[in-house]
Amino acid sequence: SEDCFKTNPDYIRSFLFESKLMPSTWIVIRIDGCHFHRLFLGFGLDGLLTFFGAFGRFADVHEFNKPNDKQALDLMNLCAVAVLEEFHDIVFCYGVSDEYSFVLRKDSQLYQRRASKIVSAIVSFFSSMYVMKWKDVFRKKELKYPPSFDGRAVCYPSNEILQDYLAWRQVDCHINNQYNTCFWSLVKSGKSKSEAQNYLKFVTERLLKFVCCKGVHIFIRGYGEQCRVLGISTTPILQSQGTQAREKNELLLKEFGINYNTLPPMFRQGSSIFRVKRENPTLLENDASSVEKTETKIVTEHCNIIEQSFWEAHPSILD
Ligand code: ATP
Ligand code: ATP
Ligand code: MG
Ligand code: MG
Ligand code: MG
Ligand code: MG
Ligand code: MG
Repeated sequence: SEDCFKTNPDYIRSFLFESKLMPSTWIVIRIDGCHFHRLFLGFGLDGLLTFFGAFGRFADVHEFNKPNDKQALDLMNLCAVAVLEEFHDIVFCYGVSDEYSFVLRKDSQLYQRRASKIVSAIVSFFSSMYVMKWKDVFRKKELKYPPSFDGRAVCYPSNEILQDYLAWRQVDCHINNQYNTCFWSLVKSGKSKSEAQNYLKFVTERLLKFVCCKGVHIFIRGYGEQCRVLGISTTPILQSQGTQAREKNELLLKEFGINYNTLPPMFRQGSSIFRVKRENPTLLENDASSVEKTETKIVTEHCNIIEQSFWEAHPSILD
């Protein structure tokens, strides 16, 4: 092989495998905090928690408020804005908990659409920002160890499928938040974690449920930390969502006087970040044609992105 290397300089290069993302499709990069809740050891060794305490669980080590730490979410949002500013091909960001999805234009040629280049550049930029901006948000709270994030890339071939992807993330946000709000209300009222879990079983006894959005059915098993999406389909198989959601909202209202719908929208809806074009206010006083007619502003909103009306109100995002 030494000879081959000497005679053929492309020999080493021939081992390189570059995975290129499908052309003309929306690219979604989803990053997610590593071990923000789950113990580093993994392997279902949760019993060992007793011995290791909070070691390795980022949210616990940094004493995030339960179920939602507003400052931690503010920090995630600041980092996502910085990513949007840095990578011009990103048109939309959606974040919840320790994750963020970044949508790149269909025609993006960033790193010639090489997946590993795009994912690693975005995830490392986000992680560095998280460390740099930590003290701006958590003024007096010390960052105890360097956080890390993982990342992946997925392509979505049409606007409809991209919107379904984003709807899936927002449904996940809602279901987790609803469960976690109930769970932590029970724990804060004096129940142990396992008592709270059992207490909530009456609303979770049917494990499979479906959530319907715009004719797409999302199948979910379990709730809260254990919640996993099983799949997406266009045919409804099970119908049980409505009553369970209502039962949980009733539980919150009756037992704790919490009206779920009045909780902060950031907790219920997650965060959407995108650019909006608006009339340049300086144009009104100064009519010079050299001044740009519109200016672009980055906004962070906490709104329903499952409903079509959001996309109709902001047609420039996916145009
Ligand atoms: P993995 O490394 O596989 O991503 P994980 O431990 O990070 O595992 P996730 O499914 O990503 O698990 O869940 C993140 C967890 O981090 C949440 O369930 C929650 O416990 C905690 N968390 C993240 N952000 C916040 C926040 N703003 N407020 C309170 N807790 C949070
Ligand atoms: P890309 O973003 O594609 O990686 P790049 O500008 O980072 O482009 P590289 O091929 O990675 O280009 O080269 C890194 C360059 O950074 C080096 O060529 C050198 O100029 C500079 N550099 C890196 N480390 C050092 C160092 N320790 N001392 C001096 N210069 C350095
Ligand atoms: Mg993960
Ligand atoms: Mg995580
Ligand atoms: Mg997560
Ligand atoms: Mg280099
Ligand atoms: Mg370099």
